[in-house]
Amino acid sequence: MTRYDADYIPCSAMAIYAHPDDIEFTVSGTVAKWAGAGCDITAVLVTSGDSGTHEYKKYTRKSLARIREQESKAAAKILGISRIIFLRKHDCEIEDTLALRKLLVRQIRKFRPEVVLCGDPQSLFFGNRYVNHPDHIVAAKAALGAVFPASEMELLWPELGKAHKVSAIYISSTMHPDTWIDITGTIERKIESLRAHRSQLGDRNIAPMIYAWAAGEGETPFPKRKKRGRAAKYTEPFRVMRLLKDEPTNENRQR
Ligand SMILES: [Zn+2]
Repeated sequence: MTRYDADYIPCSAMAIYAHPDDIEFTVSGTVAKWAGAGCDITAVLVTSGDSGTHEYKKYTRKSLARIREQESKAAAKILGISRIIFLRKHDCEIEDTLALRKLLVRQIRKFRPEVVLCGDPQSLFFGNRYVNHPDHIVAAKAALGAVFPASEMELLWPELGKAHKVSAIYISSTMHPDTWIDITGTIERKIESLRAHRSQLGDRNIAPMIYAWAAGEGETPFPKRKKRGRAAKYTEPFRVMRLLKDEPTNENRQR
C-alpha cells in the first residue's frame, strides 16, 4: 500500500471543519472507513453552528449550539470518531486570524495527527446553485495555515506544544480532486451520521442525494471521476497534499 493512495489508512487523523455537519456531508465515509481500520480520529469544529437555522422562533443561538453539539457527538459515535474539540466561535462570523490559527496549532501539536482533513479555500462556487459558505472557506484556510508551516516550526509559539509535522492533507469539496476513496462499505453509516443532525435535516430523506453524489451521478457540483480500471461504486473525492513522502518515523506516529 503506497502512502496516501486511495487505499491507504493513516494511523491518526484530524478533521478540521467549520460547522457540526460539515464532516458528515463531505468526508464521513472516509472517516468511518479509517476509524474502522484503527485510525484514531479527532474532529475539530470551529463553530457549533449557532446561526444554522431559519426556524428562528424555535431556538436561541445558545440553545441551537447546545443541540448541535449533541448532534455532533451522536454522529461521531456512529462514525467512530474518538473525540470532538469544539472551539465555539460564532457561526457566520469566523475570520482567518492568527488567534484562530493558534487555536488550531494547539490541537495539532497536542494530538499529532499523521494527516489532516479540511476543505478547499479556493472553492467559492459550486455549479450555479451554491455559493460556498464563508465559514467553510475561512476554516479551510485557517487549517492549511496551521498545518503548514505553523505547527512544524519549533521557534514559533512553543507555549502551544512541541512542534509537529503533518504528513499529508486531504482536501475535500475541491474542484481539483486527485484521489477518490472507496466508501462503498461505509456509505450507510455516512447517511446514518447525517440523520443525527435532526436540527438541520429533520425527517428529510437525504439518502438518494448522498448515493448520487458518491456515485458521481446527478447534480454533483464537483468534477466527475474518470472511470478507469476498477472503479469503486461510491467514493469521496480529495486533493491530497503529500507534505512528507517518506515512511513515518516513530515520532510521527506518536500522539
Ligand atoms: Zn457548513
